[in-house]
Amino acid sequence: MVAIRTRTPFGSSAAGGGIVIPIAAPLLADEEADAARAVVLSGWVSQGPQVAAFEDEFAALVGAPHACAVANCTTALQLALAALGIGSGDEVITVSHSFIATANVIRYQGATPVFVDIEPETYNLDCARLADAITERTRAIIAVHQMGMPCDMATLMAVARRHGIAVIEDAACAAGSQICMNGQWQAIGKPHGDIACFSFHPRKVITTGEGGMLTTSDAELDRKFRLLRQHGMSVPDTVRHNSTSVIIEEYVVLGYNFRMTDMQAAIGRRQLERLPELVGRRRTVAAKYGELLGNLEGLRLPTEPAWARSNWQSYCVRLPDRLNQRTVMQNLLDKGIATRRGIMCSHRELPYAKAAQRHDLRQSELAQDRAILLPIYAQMTEDNMRLVVEALRTELVR
Ligand SMILES: *Cc1c(COP(=O)(O)O)cnc(C)c1O
Repeated sequence: MVAIRTRTPFGSSAAGGGIVIPIAAPLLADEEADAARAVVLSGWVSQGPQVAAFEDEFAALVGAPHACAVANCTTALQLALAALGIGSGDEVITVSHSFIATANVIRYQGATPVFVDIEPETYNLDCARLADAITERTRAIIAVHQMGMPCDMATLMAVARRHGIAVIEDAACAAGSQICMNGQWQAIGKPHGDIACFSFHPRKVITTGEGGMLTTSDAELDRKFRLLRQHGMSVPDTVRHNSTSVIIEEYVVLGYNFRMTDMQAAIGRRQLERLPELVGRRRTVAAKYGELLGNLEGLRLPTEPAWARSNWQSYCVRLPDRLNQRTVMQNLLDKGIATRRGIMCSHRELPYAKAAQRHDLRQSELAQDRAILLPIYAQMTEDNMRLVVEALRTELVR
């Protein structure tokens, strides 16, 4: 992949205060710019033929019967809950240890988030703790494939099916990740629960600026997503636009405007073409990190279970107890290396002071406080990786 120009606006000295190695860098080039330009000049810029084509191509890539594009993953998760009819009085089990949107969508629907702890090795929901969190009000589980690492869907689905609970996969970070089910490697998004939700924010592996996608095997759920994302409109504007006879639409349910634009979808189609290569490169970077960091005493590296293939949306390492997380991050930043703290815990933020039920969340809190995310992106060079590793080594021998 030569001649790809990648701009890292937050990595330039002007914007990033001398950052040499950014935490992430989307890979966008002439193909994406040309695709967006063609849509701008086509005369149809809102949800239209590009969105439809993006949906078809995404569905084919993950092996899903249906894919529905929306404005972002937060709206995708909200639509998933809405289409399942989840609302006031219902409980939804999920992790606190996730981007806050995972919990927020439950509250948008008037339902109560019930937080369970994570496994320290994968940073994903600990399925052994599910049974204790299930009550007669539990209607759904939102299983997060955190940082692109697949959840243990076989175990999780067995528990959910036994209790008749719906499963939504928060696959915001997991486009291009795979899971081995019944001896077969399958893309996350097939889906393995009832609905999977993806994000195309620039921090994820492929991007449309903002964007999201829902996949499902259930035609009725897909129909509801399409209705709800467009104001509950009985006949889409694209159909009316192309009709030779007058069509008057109705508004049959309380819907939303959660649409993706055709510019975004056109960019997304080019990004989809890159996805296998982007994931391949990230897996190479992660393997190299594993090799280089493996010799560093006291550092705990992320674990990939035998049945999982992560897209390595993030690379998370756990610091030894004697090191201060913020100090390590600052020392690296002083060398031009951006890092992030471990994934946040929603239950520690003000909107969740009273608004959630929680079980023991010790592992979630430890992961937030003791882990840091290292720079990882497809075009990361081995030289840059060595700079990160050397900077970390200096911290560890301090
Ligand atoms: C990024 C992210 C989201 C939100 O995605 P948006 O597209 O920004 O709305 C939700 N859940 C998780 C786990 C995420 O990482």
